[in-house]
Amino acid sequence: MHTRFAPSPTGRLHLGHALSATRAHDCARTAGGRFSLRIEDIDGTRSRPEHVEAILRDLEWLGLGWDGPVTFQSQRLNLYQQALDRLRNMGLLYPCFCTRADIAASLSAPHGPEGTAYPGICRGLAAPDLTRPHSWRLDVAKALKLPLSFSQGGRGIWWHDIFAGHIRADPLSHGDIILARKDAPASYHLAATVDDAAQGITHIVRGKDLFGATHIHRLLQALLDLPTPEYRHHELLLGPDGQRLAKRHGAPTLEAMRLAGEDGRALADRLREGRLPVGFRSAKA
Ligand code: GLU
Repeated sequence: MHTRFAPSPTGRLHLGHALSATRAHDCARTAGGRFSLRIEDIDGTRSRPEHVEAILRDLEWLGLGWDGPVTFQSQRLNLYQQALDRLRNMGLLYPCFCTRADIAASLSAPHGPEGTAYPGICRGLAAPDLTRPHSWRLDVAKALKLPLSFSQGGRGIWWHDIFAGHIRADPLSHGDIILARKDAPASYHLAATVDDAAQGITHIVRGKDLFGATHIHRLLQALLDLPTPEYRHHELLLGPDGQRLAKRHGAPTLEAMRLAGEDGRALADRLREGRLPVGFRSAKA
């Protein structure tokens, strides 16, 4: 068994991250497996070295040691480029020049049940001008029409979550997702999927907020001939305001608790037992 914790260094970690890291760590340790730490720092505009520093200290404070060197996605861009080239050669990518405003304006027209999915404005452009800033999107409908063995005799592609059971991937409802951004050489979806396979991750333990992303990751695995790990999307933590903990909502940071002299190992133990600090609770759904 090989699990990982894969934070984005775009802010300090909070209690939700501590729960996720503890779960992934314990899952590997209980089985005598490996636990890796991967820093998802391809977002050059938002990633900060001081957040990386704090993440490493927080994990040590929680008593969650990792195996092997820390991996940095910013040092693995060639891997993502290879995957992009492969998908482009399969005719599955198209450049997209849309701004957020273009997409928002277009979405004011009815676009079916998945209102937020990209409406395909740039799909099928006759002569795209690649000197203009652009992202690369996956033509999901086209990908799903490929006569590949992954479709398992027309029964679709599946993944398994220990809590949710067998799930049929439904990537179409996410629209044509971005695989390379205007401002970053790869998107989270592409980089995480490629890395999980390259690092031999067998079990992905992460919060339920990323359950939906797995529909896309599963399609990418099928297209790139990558193995499909086992998934454990665990419950999320809600703060005293009843909201899911989030960096942008100013959730209390692990760093603040650490600097206040709290015992990190005791905190990790309390999370293991489901004993949360006053005011916090876990959301099962
Ligand atoms: N980097 C992602 C985040 O911090 C998590 C990636 C994952 O676990 O797949 O939200």
